[in-house]
Amino acid sequence: MPETKFTGYRCSICGEEYPPLDQIYTCPRDGGNLDVVLPSLRIRRELSPERLAASTEPSLWRYLPLLPVGDPLSWGTPLRAAGWTPVYQPPLLARRLGLERLWIKDDGRNPSASFKDRASAVVVARAREIGAERVVTASTGNAGAALACMAAAAGQPATIFAPRTAPPAKIAQLLVFGAQVILVDGTYDEAFDLTVQAAQEFGWYCRNTGYNPFTAEGKKTAALEIWEQVLLPNRFERPLCVFVSVGDGNIISGIHKGFKDLLNLGWIEQLPRIIGVQAEGSAAVANAFHAGGERITPVAAQTLADSIAVDLPRDGVRAVRAARETGGTYLTVSDAEILQAIAAMGPAGIFSEPAGAAAYAGLVKALGLGLVTGADPVLVLITGSGLKDVRAAMQAVHEAPVIEPNLAAVKRLLNI
Ligand SMILES: *Cc1c(COP(=O)(O)O)cnc(C)c1O
Ligand SMILES: [Zn+2]
Repeated sequence: MPETKFTGYRCSICGEEYPPLDQIYTCPRDGGNLDVVLPSLRIRRELSPERLAASTEPSLWRYLPLLPVGDPLSWGTPLRAAGWTPVYQPPLLARRLGLERLWIKDDGRNPSASFKDRASAVVVARAREIGAERVVTASTGNAGAALACMAAAAGQPATIFAPRTAPPAKIAQLLVFGAQVILVDGTYDEAFDLTVQAAQEFGWYCRNTGYNPFTAEGKKTAALEIWEQVLLPNRFERPLCVFVSVGDGNIISGIHKGFKDLLNLGWIEQLPRIIGVQAEGSAAVANAFHAGGERITPVAAQTLADSIAVDLPRDGVRAVRAARETGGTYLTVSDAEILQAIAAMGPAGIFSEPAGAAAYAGLVKALGLGLVTGADPVLVLITGSGLKDVRAAMQAVHEAPVIEPNLAAVKRLLNI
């Protein structure tokens, strides 16, 4: 077996450890999500925060020493360009919310325009290493677009199962990137189960969110970037509050993992508070959090934020822990609040798809409830570009007036 950059997997439920085999997804005993275990002692010996921060690599591959895969070496392709997304400090929004320190991290700026590129880049790198013939994923749209994009860059055959109701822009991306696209006349959850069956039957490598352990490893790079972009240059007297929207719960789990890796390395002293935000109509993780346990009861998901419409979150237990173990919490927001958040961020130059805007709507709610105060440093993660779902965006704004093409009509309209 070739040398791996990780020492194995650990079940998040029973703690059982497994060797770094080619294809293991969830714990064979209890179905628990597996954490990838890194050789942290060796990393600590060989790496320093200064060395890492000195990297000139403008992508998530600047964190290669902390990732369980090798360098994909396909320079200049989208696979190489995922991550290292910008953070903004929009004065308009900070003032309006009464916050002293507000950062927005825009992951809509990834090659396929969503956070999912982080996971797909690392999974495709892994697929190449184990010589996978074909990678398959279920997706509400973004995970598929990200896999299709990264697979195209690497010359890796890919198949995507998505609900036929996915927004047209996302389906267009899948097709343009040249993946095999199969639309399922059913929900995301049905597509998920079908994908697992197909992967087993045909020997495909399955990328499914909250199933493949490498997705969280890709997603943790957002936490490493928040550390470099916001925590390192600032000295906070209180923990940073990070707002993340939650569907399957894999982004929030990945971010938790990233901050825990930093804590284990001794590079941060305390974990940021991680605050998960779900749509009211798709709140299985928030329900479990507020019930006080870890039991995830499925819901019949109903929200216009398609990227977080999930009946049974596949990474729910770790998602509950991400908030519970960091002094965070879970909030739910209505579709109307999500649309308001799209409209609120636009005038600051930020265009988010509904699922990303949910995180901002959560911040508005947390301030209203006093869970976060004006003195707390806050970061909101925008997980997908507004161009992903133009239909929802149009619901968030007024229609533009239509006039005759002459100046008189302009004057009439503007009353001048
Ligand atoms: C997938 C996704 C989420 C939620 O991530 P989970 O891992 O499913 O919790 C949020 N926003 C966008 C834009 C997404 O694509
Ligand atoms: Zn287990």
